[in-house]
Amino acid sequence: MTNIRRRIGVLSLQGSFSEHIRSVQRAGAVASEIRLPSEIANVDGLILPGGESTTILKLIDEYRLREPLREAIAAGLPVLGTCAGVICLANRISSHVMRPLGVLDISISRNSFGRQVESFEEDLRIEELSGSAFRGVFIRAPVIESCGDGVRVLARLADGTVVACQEGNTMAACFHPEFVDDIRFHEQFLHLVEQHAMGDTA
Ligand code: GLN
Repeated sequence: MTNIRRRIGVLSLQGSFSEHIRSVQRAGAVASEIRLPSEIANVDGLILPGGESTTILKLIDEYRLREPLREAIAAGLPVLGTCAGVICLANRISSHVMRPLGVLDISISRNSFGRQVESFEEDLRIEELSGSAFRGVFIRAPVIESCGDGVRVLARLADGTVVACQEGNTMAACFHPEFVDDIRFHEQFLHLVEQHAMGDTA
């Protein structure tokens, strides 16, 4: 790591953006709220938080963020999506008629574990994350039903269901690393941001 503090933008239209900002700051980077297209150019990495994907996508269009986001991600800007954020990034949403950003080659199904009361936690083994298991918090979570050839699975539930993956500089988790004190998942993302900023393409 260099001594330069990287700047992470957190899409702050709805959902768990404050929690992500706190996690990013605890992991040692500078975090800022993103609401305007012009703000995307000033960051080294971007986070799409959990929340309600229908609302977030509606606001993305209202704030005219769709094309700027798609362009920045296509150009290699490191991105982390969590829960609803993953739904927004996906190429296909099998369970609902929606228009996601289409920048991550996965097919995803929303609310796959049932209603809010069926939310749960499970210890996960996450690829490249050393040490103890990571506590996965699943709140009305989606599941990743299929991944394209260029997508690497980062975590599965005990039953084999894919719940985290990475394609190029895009990381995706169906759970909420922003809701636990453990900052290792955010550190892993900051590592990707650092590699990209240093000119290494993933
Ligand atoms: N159920 C939400 C959706 O489909 C996602 C929930 C979350 O982000 N915790 O958009």
